[in-house]
Amino acid sequence: MSELRKLSREGVSLPEDPDDFLRDLGGPTAILVPGRDRSRSRAVTTLLHGNEPSGFRAVHAWLRSGAVPAVDALLVIANVEGALTVPPQRCAPGRRDLNRCFLGPWDDADGALARDLLDTLEAARPEALVDLHNNSGHNPAYGVGVDASPEALQVVSFFADRFVLSHLALGALMEALPHPPSATIEVGRAGDPAADAVALSGLERLLDCERLFEPGFEPLVQVLQMPMRAELRGAPRLAVADTARAGFDFTLRADLDHHNFERVEPGALLGWCTEASLPLRLVAEDGADHAADYFALQAGELRAARSFVPIMITTDPAAAAQDCLFYVVEE
Ligand SMILES: [Zn+2]
Repeated sequence: MSELRKLSREGVSLPEDPDDFLRDLGGPTAILVPGRDRSRSRAVTTLLHGNEPSGFRAVHAWLRSGAVPAVDALLVIANVEGALTVPPQRCAPGRRDLNRCFLGPWDDADGALARDLLDTLEAARPEALVDLHNNSGHNPAYGVGVDASPEALQVVSFFADRFVLSHLALGALMEALPHPPSATIEVGRAGDPAADAVALSGLERLLDCERLFEPGFEPLVQVLQMPMRAELRGAPRLAVADTARAGFDFTLRADLDHHNFERVEPGALLGWCTEASLPLRLVAEDGADHAADYFALQAGELRAARSFVPIMITTDPAAAAQDCLFYVVEE
């Protein structure tokens, strides 16, 4: 079942265990909770990716708290099927990545669900929209999106003090719904209690705040621009380790992951490579490859050729091969 169910708060059972809550939902669900002011609403989407549970855990805990929101709250728990797969998956087997479906086509199960979600969110006319995600790796919480307006940064500020401005057109929810101030929040690593805490505390404050945009508001959020994707060049055998791994073409330094959002200085060691050419491409939003400006290969060591800030570093070789190793941003 992948049709979006629309429930009122009374229509939702709230067992103590969040996983029981998911099993009871059974499929994608939107829950409307009436606020103190019924003339306005705010929307929060969670679990567009089934293996990113912090958002739905926050929704579950918040619903159980019995709090009454300042304005109507529309809470979406999307990819319940992916989350109920064992182990939880970004998308259920045979399905598309839901957060790549929001620019159409609409003619399969995930397209139809994306269309239904968009229609439901548009009908609610929320004054703000937040989409909660987790990522892999040791990242602080940060917002990411196409909108760096003061209103959007104000929404981010409930969860994070950093924002990555990205123009990558992927079919994500935020690209399809540009009208309300909106932000995608990566609250931290899936399964990390700190990430769950960021999601819950942000959700509580976002839903309890009487006025999001008081005259003269000034969100204290650092904006990072122009992400470039560091991707593997070709299909080298990739390892992630503390020293060069025998039998692998490229070994990424394992502790790089602890330096997300920190400035890397020229000469910093990034990994080890047995090939004579750079193992990475660094692709800008216009498709140009800047790897030769940022990385240098000397005596089998991959080093930073100039200062830069890496973010979203993954140390999972499979994820790195499928997607990318990290992004590079400008402050
Ligand atoms: Zn995600």
